[in-house]
Amino acid sequence: MSMHTSTISFRGGTGSVTGANFLLDTGTDKILVDCGLTQGENFCSEENYGEFTYVPSEVRTLLVTHAHMDHIGRIPQLVRRGFTGEIYSTEATKDLARAMFKDAVGILAGEARLCHKEPLYEAEDVEQALTLWKTHEYGEVFSLADDVQCTFKDAGHILGSSLVFLERAGKRIVFSGDLGNSPDVLLKDTESIEGAHYLVMESVYGDRAHEGRDMRRQVLRAAIEDSRQKGGVLLIPSFSLQRTQVLLSEINALIEDEGMQPIPIFLDSPLAIEVLDIYRRHSDLFNDEARARIAGGDDLFDFPKLKLTCAPEDSASIESAPNPKVVIAGSGMSHGGRIRSHERRYLGDKSATVLFVGYQTVGSLGRRIKDGAEKVKIDGDWVKVRARVSELSGYSAHKDRDALISFVETAQATLKKVFVVMGEPKAALFLTQRLRDFLGVDATAPAKENSVTIDW
Ligand SMILES: [Zn+2]
Repeated sequence: MSMHTSTISFRGGTGSVTGANFLLDTGTDKILVDCGLTQGENFCSEENYGEFTYVPSEVRTLLVTHAHMDHIGRIPQLVRRGFTGEIYSTEATKDLARAMFKDAVGILAGEARLCHKEPLYEAEDVEQALTLWKTHEYGEVFSLADDVQCTFKDAGHILGSSLVFLERAGKRIVFSGDLGNSPDVLLKDTESIEGAHYLVMESVYGDRAHEGRDMRRQVLRAAIEDSRQKGGVLLIPSFSLQRTQVLLSEINALIEDEGMQPIPIFLDSPLAIEVLDIYRRHSDLFNDEARARIAGGDDLFDFPKLKLTCAPEDSASIESAPNPKVVIAGSGMSHGGRIRSHERRYLGDKSATVLFVGYQTVGSLGRRIKDGAEKVKIDGDWVKVRARVSELSGYSAHKDRDALISFVETAQATLKKVFVVMGEPKAALFLTQRLRDFLGVDATAPAKENSVTIDW
C-alpha cells in the first residue's frame, strides 16, 4: 500500500473559542469538520461575513460535531455560497441544529439591520442545508470518499455531541468538537479516543480548573435561598442548549430529593423550551441514572412553580410577578435574547443577583458584567450595575485542564500529534505545554490558516 498524506488546515477556531472550521484535504477530496460562527458582541464581523478561505463547491463532505452555533452557525451560508455535498451528524444534532437555525435567522436579520448589512443567510438557506443533511448513530461506521471510514462517538458535551473518528489505511484522526464535563447529570461520559494517531482538540478551559464541582448543586441552592431571603430576583443567563436543561434537572432534584421549597421560576426562552422537547424525544441518549429516573416516572424538567414563557406577552409579565423569583433566560453570554431586557430592568437593583453559569467570551455583555463593569450599555442605554454578580463554574459543559489531559492520555501510546484549538491563546498554549510536559506528546497550537501535512 502506498503511503497517504493529507493536510489539515485551520480555517477558524484558532486563538478563539468560537468559529470552529477545520478542513481536511486528502489530496483528492476535501472534508470539513464544523462550520461555526465567531461570537463577539455581534455577528457582523469580517470573520462571519468574509469569504470562506476555500471554495465551498469543492468540499465534498461536512461533518458536524454538535449543534452549538460556534460549530454550525455558518453552515447555511456555506450552502448559500455553493456547497452541495453531504452533511453528516447524529440525529439529535440535526434536530437541535434545525431549532438553533430557526432561532438564529431572526437574530441575524436583526443584527444585519443594525450594522447595515445583508443577513448572513435566510430560512431558505437553512432548508437547503437540512436537505443535504444525513444522520448516523453513535458507533455506526460509514464510508466517505477515498476509503475514509467515519464514526461518531459520544463527546458528552451536549445532546448528540460527537467525537469524529476518521480512519484511513489503519490510521485514525479524531476531531474532539467540544468535550463534555463528565460525569454530567443527563449525558453519558465522553468516550475514549484510544488508538488515535492525530487529534484536533478543544481547549476552552485548557488553563483552568472547575472549582466547586462537587458543591455546585448546593451553591445553586444557596443562590436561590439568598434571593428568597432578600426578596429579590435571581437572573441566570443560560445557554438554551444543554445548560438550561441541566439547571432544570438540578432544580428538579433539589425540590424532589432534597426538600427545597419551590420558588417561582421562569424559563424565559422559546429556544430553550423547544430544545427541552428535543431532549425529551432523545432521552434514550441520556446516562443510566437519568434514564432510570425517567423510567420511574419523574419528569426531569418539570417541578412545582416552573413556568415556561414562550409568548412575548408572557415574558413581559415576568416583571410584574412578585419577588422573589428566578429567571432563566438566554442568551448565555447576554449577546442577544430576552436576558438583555431582564438585565436592563434588574442590574440596577441591589436585591437582584446575576448568576453566571457558563463561559463568557471576550467582548460579550456577559463578560463585561462578570469582569465587574460599574455600568454597561444595553441596547443604547447605560445601566449601573448594583446587583450582586456571582459565578458558578461547576456547571461548565467543557472539560477542565486536568480532565483534558486525562482525555488525551488514553491515546498517549499511539498519538503522533495533537493540535490544540478552540481556546483563547493563553488557554491553548497552557494546554499545549502541559501535554508536552505531562504526557510527552507532540502538541502544537496552530494559528489561523495554518496548514499541516500529516501521513494519513
Ligand atoms: Zn459546544
